[in-house]
Amino acid sequence: MLDQENICLSVEKTQREYKSVAPEIVQTSSFQFDDFQHYVDVNMNKKSAYTYTRGENPTLTILEEKLAQLEKGECAKVFASGMGAISATILSLVQQKDHIVIVNTVYGSTVKFIQNLERFGVESTKIDVSSTEDIFAFVKENTKMIYFESPSSQKFEMLDLEMISQFAKQRNIITVIDNTWATPLFQNPLVHGIDIVIHSCSKYIGGHSDLVGGIVISNQKYIHEINEFGQIFLGATMSPMNAWLALRGLRTLPVRLKSQEQSVKQVIQFLQQSPYVKKIYHPMVHTSTDLTDKYLKGYGSLLSFVLKDATPDVIERFVDSLKHFTLAYSWGGFESLVMPVWKGSNEEELKKRGLDIGHIRMYIGLEEVELLIEDLQNAFNHAYQ
Ligand code: PLP
Repeated sequence: MLDQENICLSVEKTQREYKSVAPEIVQTSSFQFDDFQHYVDVNMNKKSAYTYTRGENPTLTILEEKLAQLEKGECAKVFASGMGAISATILSLVQQKDHIVIVNTVYGSTVKFIQNLERFGVESTKIDVSSTEDIFAFVKENTKMIYFESPSSQKFEMLDLEMISQFAKQRNIITVIDNTWATPLFQNPLVHGIDIVIHSCSKYIGGHSDLVGGIVISNQKYIHEINEFGQIFLGATMSPMNAWLALRGLRTLPVRLKSQEQSVKQVIQFLQQSPYVKKIYHPMVHTSTDLTDKYLKGYGSLLSFVLKDATPDVIERFVDSLKHFTLAYSWGGFESLVMPVWKGSNEEELKKRGLDIGHIRMYIGLEEVELLIEDLQNAFNHAYQ
């Protein structure tokens, strides 16, 4: 026979008496009010309390507070995915007749999402610029937001954050950066005047390819607006379990990044000497040191390179010969990954995005770097045999 009273007691005991070192997963949808008066006080905003996980949850709060501190922001809101965070932010802050400028190789789904807002009367312009000043020519009277990544996650272009923020502030334009590549440890855009920082927690922050999540970090005003509309109504809430996994990932983020930074340096040195590589994209290689020195405290381990004289056969042989790079989307976990941008028949789309058919995105994980370099050499040999 189940003893209901004892089951309830043991739950309370766990929460009150065990001083767990790891944060608790508060895996609940709803929270109790103490009594009717408490219920009234909370609803009249006289007292604050957790009430429902689509709004707030203690495990989510820990992650929000930690990441807000790391990004030097006032506060943060977590979401069920990076795209959940991106779409909620944009939908909360723009309205009909507004215009958004999208700069350089922003994550593809973000670009498509913004372009789809045309259905609701929100205009956008997607631009490729070689220097930050070039952006300003595309700003219009009704530009409400400049959305960018820096470094971006396909060609790794960098922009001058302070130049963008100074220009935008004079015109009441909201600046939003996707800072996923750099993480809060290697770049803090809010310090340079950018209004809103977004991360996909599915990458380095989670760190183990086992969760999907996102976060927006900013000041009280913007997070309040994003919470009230984008979080509560759109409902892309991060689960407590995923928040807990992200907290676990966060604990090892500094050591993982340090090790991966060393590995990516060695891989780049190897690629620079390879006769099979036409071009390498990574801030360490092709960005002016004025920008890297000013904004980056370290280098992420996601890079791209272009295979020389690439044909579909060369790409296939190269990818299939790799033993230690898994052919898979995403990045930021333990395993090294490879992602050719060519997917069999998308030449036209690649041309529009300014990408070569032989453009290969590669994520350097936590394996021994010597093993990875040997694997690359072997795959080049097979590809060009
Ligand atoms: N931003 C960048 C730079 C990404 O690479 C991705 C996903 O690959 C996203 C945002 C979207 O994040 P999520 O997959 O968590 O929705």
